Amino acid sequence: MATRVQCLIIGSGPAGYTAAIYASRANLQPVLIDGPQQGGQLTMTTLVENFPGFPDGAEPFQMLDDMRRQAMRFGTQFVSGIVTKASFDHPADGAQPEHHVWVDDTDEYIAQTVIIATGASAKWLGLPTEKEYMGRGVSACATCDGFFYRNKTVAVVGGGDTACEEAGYLAGLCQKVYMIVRKPYLRAADIMQKRVMENPKIEVLFEHNTLRLTGEGKVQGADLIYRKDTPEAQERHIDIDGFFLAIGHHPNTDLFKGSLDLDEEGYIKVSGDSPRTNIAGVYAAGDCADPHYRQAIVAAASGCKAAIEADRFLQSCQC
Ligand code: NDP
Repeated sequence: MATRVQCLIIGSGPAGYTAAIYASRANLQPVLIDGPQQGGQLTMTTLVENFPGFPDGAEPFQMLDDMRRQAMRFGTQFVSGIVTKASFDHPADGAQPEHHVWVDDTDEYIAQTVIIATGASAKWLGLPTEKEYMGRGVSACATCDGFFYRNKTVAVVGGGDTACEEAGYLAGLCQKVYMIVRKPYLRAADIMQKRVMENPKIEVLFEHNTLRLTGEGKVQGADLIYRKDTPEAQERHIDIDGFFLAIGHHPNTDLFKGSLDLDEEGYIKVSGDSPRTNIAGVYAAGDCADPHYRQAIVAAASGCKAAIEADRFLQSCQC
């Protein structure tokens, strides 16, 4: 039998947990579905040093567990499982919507409001040791982890806006930044390219690909190949302390294709500054709707907004 809820939250990162705290305090009795990676992307960081209120930094698992317990304290119910299907209602103005969501293909929820906080996943190169070194030299977020590489040498992979932005940010902290770019040119906006090319701390290695990362228990270097698959192909090694992936993100929204408006990259389209989607009573918070900032604090703030919107929506319809 289906479970009826006022507010269903999908995702257990800072956006989902913050939405749960606000929704439970508003007495919406939310149910939160954890998803495949409890805690989301933040669990891949070593220390969270940029979330206000933690002058000594926060251990990500502890921080996420604290958010979870805070939501639990106000009555949020947690469900372990993965949402496998969603069917959104198009209620007439003021009518009570019935959004259907299935967990693990079997358990059906009928929700008056749904807050989607499924996050995004960094793209990986697929190197054999890449994930092993995660948190020990490999990172997908310069803003989160750059500080640990002050006065060190790092590499950023990618030639888009993110890579240029991350390289510029890291150049402000590090002794040297290599950019490993597979094409003979950068794809980023002209102004971003100019900044990179004029920064004396950044060396762009065009037409280079990474073969492997090296180091005892942490990243200490990378083997690269220049002009892969050509007669001039040549291997070289660089000594580095950090390896930052900036080859794009993929929002975790495949499930909603066809039922919600998504942009070309798959991010959920929201209405300006608000987390409202094109469906009444359905909201998107955090990285699944944010290609620009991708920060825990921003995700948390949008989770808060989504819960406030859900509450107001429930008050305004005949629910
Ligand atoms: P992009 O898709 O624009 O760029 C990805 C980069 O990674 C490309 O240079 C691509 O190479 C490279 N890449 C992809 N796969 C591999 C691989 N397997 N090996 C090596 N290199 C690889 O992603 P971004 O995250 O940079 O940007 C996403 C969107 O967000 C863009 O629309 C961008 O404009 C926007 N953005 C805007 C910013 C701003 O305006 N301040 C800041 C950040 C992002 P190739 O070129 O060869 O395909």
